[in-house]
Amino acid sequence: MSTHSLTDAVEAAKQRYTEANPTSKALHEEATLSLPGGNTRTVLHAGPFPIYMKSGKNHQVISEDGKTYTDLLCEFTAALYGHSNPRLQEAITNVVQTIGMNVGANTRQETLFAREVCSRFALERVRFANSGTEANLHALAAARLFTGKHKVVSFSGGYHGGVLGFRGGAPAKNNVDKQDWVVARYNDLESAKAAIKTEGVAAVIVEGMQGAGGCFAGTIDFLRGVQEAAHDAGVLFILDEVMTSRLSSGGLAQMYGLKPDLKTFGKWLGGGLAIGAFGGRADIMAAFDPRLSTSVAHSGTFNNNTLVTHAGYTGLKELYTSSEAERFTQVGEALRAKLNEVSSGTRMCFTGLGTIMAVHITKCGTREILRASDVEEDQVMMELFWFEMIEQGFWLAKRGFVALILETPQEELDRFVGAVATFVGKYRSELSL
Ligand code: PMP
Repeated sequence: MSTHSLTDAVEAAKQRYTEANPTSKALHEEATLSLPGGNTRTVLHAGPFPIYMKSGKNHQVISEDGKTYTDLLCEFTAALYGHSNPRLQEAITNVVQTIGMNVGANTRQETLFAREVCSRFALERVRFANSGTEANLHALAAARLFTGKHKVVSFSGGYHGGVLGFRGGAPAKNNVDKQDWVVARYNDLESAKAAIKTEGVAAVIVEGMQGAGGCFAGTIDFLRGVQEAAHDAGVLFILDEVMTSRLSSGGLAQMYGLKPDLKTFGKWLGGGLAIGAFGGRADIMAAFDPRLSTSVAHSGTFNNNTLVTHAGYTGLKELYTSSEAERFTQVGEALRAKLNEVSSGTRMCFTGLGTIMAVHITKCGTREILRASDVEEDQVMMELFWFEMIEQGFWLAKRGFVALILETPQEELDRFVGAVATFVGKYRSELSL
């Protein structure tokens, strides 16, 4: 198929998408009258218009146009427990009916939840917030207070929140503290070491696997090297585990044998409700100990809300236990291996760790990708892939991000492998190296 006919194939797929989803189209048009571009969360925008979901059940989402999808997006890792887990429903209903919301006071439950989070993720102390972005902002504040320094080393392709993005290799235009970042190259230890040695650096913040940046895993040598270089320079090492904490019973730090000074969390940890958490060394977290005259405030109206402290606790204690986390990661590893098998010998590959992965269709066809900036994606093929997967009833991010929901039937994962194999067969010559 020539480039011309490939563009035709995308146009035809768009046409079928538009015809199949008239209600979503109308809802999008209506939304543009009150939300810029009809959107309040940029990542969900998709052309010609996004599909609107009416509901979710277990591992599925059901669109306003009446189509049922297998949810392979998993709310960007946050919907680990699916959309209607009975134990979470029970825990949340119990809060609504018998405990009450917004009690405006300390509760036993926040201690129970904090104790569980500390023990699972090897933290001496933890504090809660309402999003991963917030958790990272507070962790950076803690590092600055502790060291008395202000600069922070981050990595190209990294993402730590709505005002903490580095995808283009520099702080995004709407980043906080734009002048204070030293951006190094991901998976490049020499670059990291040089950045860490910069005068006035308080902390280095890194994802063990860059999630939003394309599911590129840090090598063990790189991550351990960053930890060591930071330690030697008196710079705090912050591991962003917002996504990766679900990859083992103790998160990626445990998998890779890392001992960060601080770790940050969010997404699935709240049992499906809004959450952020940050914690680690007690001496650093003491910055927020209100009994000390030197302390600073860490505030947030909903930090200890009864809904999230119950749902998150139920999830950790009963559903995503340590053994379940280890088992589930193997499910993801097996799926990614199969996806790479059916796409082998082509320009398509799947990167990631455990149940978090991303499809790439690169121009050069390499399968060993260390960082996003090393490859150029074939945007036309990526778009075609997305439209065709949507048509086959798989809900995934337009940029190719995939994360798994617990208890997604193995048959659905196999069906996805089949759909990918069919796509590869149909466009084999366009995908060839
Ligand atoms: N850190 C990482 C690694 C993330 O993937 C995200 C969200 N994609 C965040 C931080 C920000 O979390 P939130 O969207 O809850 O603010």
